[in-house]
Amino acid sequence: MASAVDTFMAGVIAKNPEQKEFHQAVHEVVESLMPVIDKHPEYRKAKILERLVEPERIIMFRVPWVDDRGEVQINRGMRVEFNSAIGPYKGGLRFHPSVNLGIIKFLGFEQVFKNGLTTLPIGGGKGGSDFDPKGKSDNEVMHFCQSFMSELFRHVGADTDVPAGDIGVGGREIGYLFGQYKRLVNRFEGVLTGKGLNWGGSLIRPEATGYGAVYFAEEMLKTRGESLKGKTCVISGSGNVAQFATEKILDLGGKPVTFSDSNGSIVDEEGIDREKLAFVMELKNVRRGRIKEYVDKYPKATYQVSESGAKINPLWQVKCDVALPAATQNEINVEDANHLVKNGCYCVSEGANMPTMPEGVNVFLESKILYGPGKAANAGGVAVSGLEMSQNSMRLAWTREEVDNKLHSIMISIHKACAETAEKYGAPGNYVNGANIAGFIKVADAMLDQGVV
Ligand code: NDP
Repeated sequence: MASAVDTFMAGVIAKNPEQKEFHQAVHEVVESLMPVIDKHPEYRKAKILERLVEPERIIMFRVPWVDDRGEVQINRGMRVEFNSAIGPYKGGLRFHPSVNLGIIKFLGFEQVFKNGLTTLPIGGGKGGSDFDPKGKSDNEVMHFCQSFMSELFRHVGADTDVPAGDIGVGGREIGYLFGQYKRLVNRFEGVLTGKGLNWGGSLIRPEATGYGAVYFAEEMLKTRGESLKGKTCVISGSGNVAQFATEKILDLGGKPVTFSDSNGSIVDEEGIDREKLAFVMELKNVRRGRIKEYVDKYPKATYQVSESGAKINPLWQVKCDVALPAATQNEINVEDANHLVKNGCYCVSEGANMPTMPEGVNVFLESKILYGPGKAANAGGVAVSGLEMSQNSMRLAWTREEVDNKLHSIMISIHKACAETAEKYGAPGNYVNGANIAGFIKVADAMLDQGVV
């Protein structure tokens, strides 16, 4: 007989064919939630799960723009407004050639639970485009962003839907998007987060996701009486999350040894110190170069090319205590997970969204290492976005220390909620179940209160 999860998933797959990342994200959540649904007939009666997997609204649109050679280019833009039970839709925009509806829906779905965990009143959404900012001039990026916002502005607003950055969308893109929004609506309002500091942005927002993932790792380590001090850390990616995770690891006395991008990875056994991190930040954020250049500057480090379609990623074979995947979804498969555990890694804190494939997650859970899923571990980014919204509403700006302290205490609360919920539902130490159930209950109860909408 098919299990309740299989039956539910068959319906989701039939209704949303070919959205494999969305199926993956839903499957993981539904598996965690079945014991909760069994205990609470009111959720089943109100069809909360069935409603949760159906976005409240999807907007898809053409984004035409003219490149530097005068040629017309056409991209596809989208925004998935997933769930507004506890607040305005909130979640990033991703600009990457791999973007499709299944990816944006998986990200939007995860965001609903993540935002529920943050303790802040924010609903879940996600958007983006198959536009690739890599290799484009600033002028081209600006024209694209202006065209993208020329449609999106109708659907977003400070009390409706507040996008932020994600892969391929950093401070530069948020600036161009905000400029166009303001021009179109003739209002200066907090419609986006991740804004520049002199026009409504919050201190610590750029740092928040990376810092938060490290705070979460530290909380997990504390449950074993340990800390990050002296721990060797493997980090993937070299973008926003990877850079600030590295900075916080250094603050807490850890030793980061790797970075990567989509072309390959570097390993620096001597450790990546602040000077080397500053080099990477300039390389990636200003010169927009490739991580390979790290070994030209620091020849004792080694570089390995990523083979497309390779069965394993050599980055995850690097010996470490702590791993922080901070690049993209499904970057750790079952073999990579086995390599990590076999080589002594016993703490994984996910800066990226869904970076570990389901079989890899099982390896982490079965080997009882400390495993913080992205939904919980990377929630610091959206949490500080929520704080940016609060500051915009009050027309006030908090200091760096105030925001960092709030971020730190939010990450401690998220860790506590996940750990306590996992324990309560019979899976102590399982942060996956803890995060899914705690996020769900907050949103589900709000949906019950608000009737069938
Ligand atoms: P950035 O664009 O700043 O950096 C992304 C990094 O990951 C780059 O080094 C990029 O390399 C690499 N990367 C991207 N796609 C791939 C791929 N398909 N294969 C290999 N490497 C890849 O993005 P962020 O740092 O903001 O985001 C990283 C992750 O963190 C994402 O999963 C995102 O969803 C998640 N996240 C981000 C938040 C934020 O606040 N920014 C909040 C919560 C989660 P290359 O330059 O070669 O593409």
